[in-house]
Amino acid sequence: MNLVLFGPPGAGKGTQAKVITEQRGLPQLSTGEMLRAAIAAGTELGKASKAIMDRGDLVSDDIVVGIIGERYDQPDCAKGAVFDGFPRTIPQAEALDAMLAKRGRKIDLVIELKVDDKILIDRVEQRIKESGGTTRSDDTPETLKARLAVYYKNTAPLLEYYKHQGKVVTVDGMKPIVEVTRQIGAAIDAKARH
Ligand code: ADP
Repeated sequence: MNLVLFGPPGAGKGTQAKVITEQRGLPQLSTGEMLRAAIAAGTELGKASKAIMDRGDLVSDDIVVGIIGERYDQPDCAKGAVFDGFPRTIPQAEALDAMLAKRGRKIDLVIELKVDDKILIDRVEQRIKESGGTTRSDDTPETLKARLAVYYKNTAPLLEYYKHQGKVVTVDGMKPIVEVTRQIGAAIDAKARH
C-alpha cells in the first residue's frame, strides 16, 4: 500500500508515520528528514537547501522528486511506503503519480490530518521549549508562520487533486495521539479490504 500523510506543519504526520512503519512495516519517506540529513552530512544538496528551508520556503520540485524517486527504488519499499511531507505541490503529486504508474503502482490512500492554526502554533512553541531551541533551525514562531502560509498557498490545493481521485480520508488531528493512530489504522484496514 502507498499512503500519503497530508496536513499542515506540526499536524503530527511524522509521529503517525513512525507508528505506521512500526505496525505495518511500510517505510516512512519524509522529504523533510531526507533534506535535514543532507544538511547534516554537508552535501551539495544540503548546502543548496538550508537557506530555503530556514526561510520556510519550498525546495524545488525537481530536487524532492529526484530524492523520492531514488529512495522509492530501495528494496524496503517493495510493499509500498508512507509519504510524509511529500507531495507538497501539484507538480510533485503529478510526478509521484507518474513515478508510481511506471512501476505499476499507485497512491491508495491519502490521510488528511486536520488541525487548527492556533493549535499548530502552540505545538511548535511547545516543541521549541522542550528542545531548548537546539533541534530544527526552521522551528521558530516566525518561520512557522511562513511555512503555514506556504502550506495554504501551495500544498492545501493538493487536497482537491486527491479528492478528485476519491482517495482522501480526513482524521481529526487534534484528538490524542493514540486516537489519531486508531482512526488512521481503521482507514488503512478499510482500504486493504477493498
Ligand atoms: P514540517 O514540520 O513543516 O511539515 P518538514 O520536515 O516536512 O516540515 O519539512 C521541512 C522543510 O523542508 C520545509 O519547510 C521545506 O523547506 C522543505 N521540504 C520538505 N519537503 C518538501 C517538499 N516535498 N517540497 C519542497 N520542500 C520540502
